[in-house]
Amino acid sequence: MDIPRETLKTGAEMPKLGLGTWQLTGEDCLRAVPMALEMGYDHIDTADVYGNHREIAPALRDVDRDSIWITSKVNRGSLRYDDVLATCEKNLGELAVDYLDLYLIHWPDPDAPMEETFRALARLVDEGMTRNIGVSNFMVEHLTEALAVAEVPIVNNQIKFNPVTQPWDVVELCREHDISVTAYSPIMRGDAPENTVLQEIAAEVERTPVQVALRWLLQQEMIVIPKATSEAHLRENLELFDFHISPEQDERIRALA
Ligand code: NAP
Repeated sequence: MDIPRETLKTGAEMPKLGLGTWQLTGEDCLRAVPMALEMGYDHIDTADVYGNHREIAPALRDVDRDSIWITSKVNRGSLRYDDVLATCEKNLGELAVDYLDLYLIHWPDPDAPMEETFRALARLVDEGMTRNIGVSNFMVEHLTEALAVAEVPIVNNQIKFNPVTQPWDVVELCREHDISVTAYSPIMRGDAPENTVLQEIAAEVERTPVQVALRWLLQQEMIVIPKATSEAHLRENLELFDFHISPEQDERIRALA
């Protein structure tokens, strides 16, 4: 199954579904990532701070690098010019790859001048260490500042967005600037199955509450990166592209915010 892609403003094609890997470490990571790639996932979301690059690396060794989308992130505390360059170089070494598809500022950091961080990110793009850059957890005020100083296009903002957390103001600003939105914690950190409205809609469309949450986000034109460890969860989270949430069901989910 081919996962649909979102065309970013640089022309890059980002898969709309990825595997989140926060708290996926050790043996679980060594097992889940190759299993996901085998099933058809072609997008891995990681970060310097997740400490799992070395456990993701073996799965990447056996696949065509260009067929997999890899996002990683540089954390606050490492956002000065030299720190960004050094962190990215370290991350590439840990993942044993030559480039990232997307490198994000993980969190805004008032202690690091944003202009300096974006100058470093521009250098990473220039040197081919990452093909695209973006941000994460940037709310309206952070994104406004970033847009004023960034020398290379910001293609993505990764924010917490799910049926109970809906920061539409950030999404609207992203849309105005052709910045794609990745929804993190898309299944409410595992709480989606307990949500009554998602349960009701799941019964109507003959799917699970998790699939309803993910499908709803895809229909909001967001990229989703659910984290999963087990084979059953990984498989369930892939089956999103052959059903629809109706406008009326969409209204009920919006009302959960
Ligand atoms: P999430 O994806 O909303 O939820 C993950 C939880 O849901 C895990 O406990 C997982 O269990 C469970 N789960 C997965 N599939 C399931 C299914 N089909 N049925 C029932 N339960 C299921 O939470 P998240 O990890 O916070 O967010 C996803 C990814 O977003 C992260 O892994 C990370 O890559 C990214 N993220 C980014 C930031 C940021 O600051 N940029 C912050 C948080 C997260 P198992 O693992 O046992 O399968």
